[in-house]
Amino acid sequence: MRSPRNDGRAVVEICRRMYERGYVVATEGNVSVRLRSGEILVTATRVRKREIATGDLVRLTPGGVRVAGSPRPSSEAALHTLIYSKRSDINAVVHAHPPCCSAFAVAGKRLRVGAIPEVLVEFGDIPLVPFAVPGTGKLPKAITPHLMKSNFFLLANHGVVSCAADLEEAYDLVERAEHAARILLLAESLGGAGNLSPRDRRELRHIRQTRTDGQRHGVRQR
Ligand SMILES: [Zn+2]
Repeated sequence: MRSPRNDGRAVVEICRRMYERGYVVATEGNVSVRLRSGEILVTATRVRKREIATGDLVRLTPGGVRVAGSPRPSSEAALHTLIYSKRSDINAVVHAHPPCCSAFAVAGKRLRVGAIPEVLVEFGDIPLVPFAVPGTGKLPKAITPHLMKSNFFLLANHGVVSCAADLEEAYDLVERAEHAARILLLAESLGGAGNLSPRDRRELRHIRQTRTDGQRHGVRQR
């Protein structure tokens, strides 16, 4: 397994990958990492993700203040700094508009975790955060009550937020959720996805808990 890389080059790589996968278009979306120094690197506002470079990244203090010489940060930078301030286990945050997940979000529907085993083990729960006008600073307030419940969130009428100990992991959650959302949408045309039985769900939640406990006991350190 590759060691986690949370730096500017990794941010650029993930932005381009998200653009290529259609998870963002044009200047949409934003990505950040927390550096070992505690500072935050976040994508600048209105940068095309297909051609982003390390010069398009903004350096913020842990408190969210822009370091002199940096370009203007994404309008959602406050969301990123909030997550880092509340979650010491998180070092990377991704915000994107992947089409299938966003279809659930704009329909105001939750992504059901109880239909696909991998999804239940990987996500546990996927909260649906009430709508907040993007770029107004209201999104951090809307997500706060849900922050400790999950590493992945659907934003009503908007898109997704994913966070993890490292950037590849945060990206993987977006990819996994988008794949699951696509399966669930396809299942709709066949009459809808069935739920796993309560017993199977209990067993899968136990597997998830065992895995989470293992990670908490020092397997994953920054
Ligand atoms: Zn957005």
